[in-house]
Amino acid sequence: MTRFFISQSQIPSLGEFCLDGENGRHGAKVLRLRPGEEVVLCDGECGEWLCTVKENQGERLLLLITGSAKSKAEPDMHITLCQCLPKGDKLETVTQKAVELGAYEIWPVVSRYCVTKWDAKTEARKLARLQKISLEAAMQSGRGIVPKVLAPAALEDALRSASARGDLAFLYEKATRPFYEGIRGLSSRVFVFVGPEGGFAPEEAALAQELGARMLSLGPRILRTETAAIAALSGIALDPMFVPEGYCAD
Ligand code: SAM
Repeated sequence: MTRFFISQSQIPSLGEFCLDGENGRHGAKVLRLRPGEEVVLCDGECGEWLCTVKENQGERLLLLITGSAKSKAEPDMHITLCQCLPKGDKLETVTQKAVELGAYEIWPVVSRYCVTKWDAKTEARKLARLQKISLEAAMQSGRGIVPKVLAPAALEDALRSASARGDLAFLYEKATRPFYEGIRGLSSRVFVFVGPEGGFAPEEAALAQELGARMLSLGPRILRTETAAIAALSGIALDPMFVPEGYCAD
């Protein structure tokens, strides 16, 4: 079912609603939604409004709002993926998969062995692109929010900021603590750190440990940075402990 993210103030509780602008054009001209088809309007804060298409007006859709509900697709836990800048466009893949797997935010991080460097112009362009990828992935996967892609931070700053706000899960290939054991007892606010292709410098791992991070191993094989991020988020998303309240496949 097609989902559109719009601001809550625009959505009446029930009755007719005209979806115009970019969303309306996309629904009417690209998706060519027809009367009787169902769509969901989302306010980006877990609010959802079920609608039926009443009329395709070419550049906009006339919708009939038939009900509202709270999104069931949001984990109770807010996970920020702190991804050290990988080479090429891997961050686009990581962002898309992180949104599908329930991440709350994606935070690009610059660590010592990051080969990729963004200047101000590149950063603005990259962040806009990554945020669009997040929106598209949120629409496709049925999220109740659109995860934010934050402005990059230096690893040390990210570690210190994160340690003041939640639990740190530091993916470290030299760690001995297994991931599945290490995620037990996590709080509802978690920051998952993934190194770049070159890994973490020893002093970076030492700082993480000093700040109370859980140093976690994903097993005996060395995963690519993009694989490690997806593996960790999958491990949390699929763990029975973290499946959203009320979601159960009968
Ligand atoms: N240069 C490192 C080496 O050769 O040991 C490999 C870094 S790996 C390509 C990129 C990142 O993925 C690591 O910094 C870590 O965050 C994560 N990672 C990969 N394999 C892992 C594993 N088995 N356990 C924990 N983290 C892993």
